[in-house]
Amino acid sequence: MFRVTSQYLAEYLASVLDAWIVSETEVLAARQTVKCLQAQYQKGRPGGQECVFEGLLRCRVTANIMATFAAHKSKLPGLLNSSHTVSRHVCVSKKHHDHVIPNQDWKIAFDQSIDKHGRLVNIPAPGKQSPCRADLYFFASDGIVSLELKYVGPGQLLNVPNTVAQMRRYRHHKRSVLVGYAAQPSRAGLEENVREVEARLKRYGQQARGLVVRGPEIVRVEATEIGL
Ligand SMILES: [Zn+2]
Repeated sequence: MFRVTSQYLAEYLASVLDAWIVSETEVLAARQTVKCLQAQYQKGRPGGQECVFEGLLRCRVTANIMATFAAHKSKLPGLLNSSHTVSRHVCVSKKHHDHVIPNQDWKIAFDQSIDKHGRLVNIPAPGKQSPCRADLYFFASDGIVSLELKYVGPGQLLNVPNTVAQMRRYRHHKRSVLVGYAAQPSRAGLEENVREVEARLKRYGQQARGLVVRGPEIVRVEATEIGL
């Protein structure tokens, strides 16, 4: 767990992520890793754009956290975690930092967070057998900061009502953060969308924040590309 509050942590994440511009090289490197890991962990199933985006985001956030909070890599699964097996292994800057951790260690820590936080992590969904989960959980000293990631391709916009409905699931978290990836020359449209999501959630009394990053288009990893 972080020794800082959810409020502090949410501000910190905003400072690391807002206005981040992802490079073409980073996207290609992350996509290559996802391609290999989909074969290894996901039986060769396709890998979506959000998996690549999440991998890139985790690499950036993790490297910053290790530097800012002097966190040894063995502590990382207790600080931020999710059940996603592929994106947690993406690193596009191995020469500069090391956050490679075995899957088993991520899993043990995630199971512990479910034991501790229960329905805040495994969120019951009416009419569904499996619980809903945020894309990424950060464990602050006073509770959870959750991240929801959205890839918005060229010429597309965010579906605001759907995103609000999804983010409402995280209303019992201390803070919830939406991070949109604009695969477009301008971030203006998506910026407007996330402000709208933020405003609607705030009307419900939810402590929410919307951030926008920008980068090149990410091409989905197709099953046919994955050699098994
Ligand atoms: Zn990295």
